[in-house]
Amino acid sequence: MLCRTSEELQALVDEAKRCTVKGKVADYIPALGKANPNDLAVAIHYPNGECTSAGDIEKKFTLQSVSKVITLALVLMDRGPSYVFEKVGMEPTGDPFNSIVKLETMALSKPLNPMINAGALAVTHMIKGDSVKQRLERLLEFVRELTNDSTVFYSEDVSRSEFETAFLNRSLSYFLKQNGIINEDVEELMDLYTKQCAIEMNSLDLARIGVVFAMDGVDPISGKQIIPSDIARICKTFMVTCGMYNASGEFAIKIGIPAKSGVSGGIMAAVPGKFGIGIFGPALNEQGNSIAGIKLLELLSNNYQLSMF
Ligand code: GLN
Repeated sequence: MLCRTSEELQALVDEAKRCTVKGKVADYIPALGKANPNDLAVAIHYPNGECTSAGDIEKKFTLQSVSKVITLALVLMDRGPSYVFEKVGMEPTGDPFNSIVKLETMALSKPLNPMINAGALAVTHMIKGDSVKQRLERLLEFVRELTNDSTVFYSEDVSRSEFETAFLNRSLSYFLKQNGIINEDVEELMDLYTKQCAIEMNSLDLARIGVVFAMDGVDPISGKQIIPSDIARICKTFMVTCGMYNASGEFAIKIGIPAKSGVSGGIMAAVPGKFGIGIFGPALNEQGNSIAGIKLLELLSNNYQLSMF
């Protein structure tokens, strides 16, 4: 097993932290701009319940795009793969996460995959429930089960900040509506999507979600199959092919671990059969991935031969 002691992990955090100066916190969602670019936290959650952690571990952050993989799991459980993949594709794009270009230029009938914003909006639309409130509550309950933390909630401040400025996501949603992928009111979808993205936790919680994916959907502590194994497998495959946006190819070559990032600086990684990793480092690189988080995963992967390839 790797990094049995926090000291060992802290040494890697210290090394990775040097590159935070080259990154920048996201500020297109104004509330995210308040983050401290020097923060870096990591937690590793093993199937036997043990955790190793280092850095600013108590700091909470919002999931942002990390939520896309969790919502995908819920919707696949709600509706089944054939229904979901009629409305959203399975192919990576080489474009930034919020790009609108392929929806128009390729005259696509559906977004290319569920990890880009267009695809994630289509997936959020598919969460079952009679109202935004009920759909959000179902998602929160799912996240609470994954983290084993009944207090998980979303940040009002961050969700409001994104709701007030989500002009591009509104544009994507109108494209989807025009193409018959969604049929709900766009403002309602924005309300749900921005609250989904603003679900808050620390890196220990995120590592616990990672270990459930790593163990094929089984909560290793309770032994409960929270996510059916075929759905966990689909989610991990998307994490490999599209989880780090348009840097997914390079990430697969250099690191080789299924992972999903968000513009808050969160990264949830699942080392298949071994453990979950939760990272928070809000200074981002050009593609919107945590710059020190990627460095840290690279150090872990190289030092402990974690690549699955
Ligand atoms: N809420 C963010 C958005 O839609 C999530 C994007 C991300 O984390 N890449 O812009």
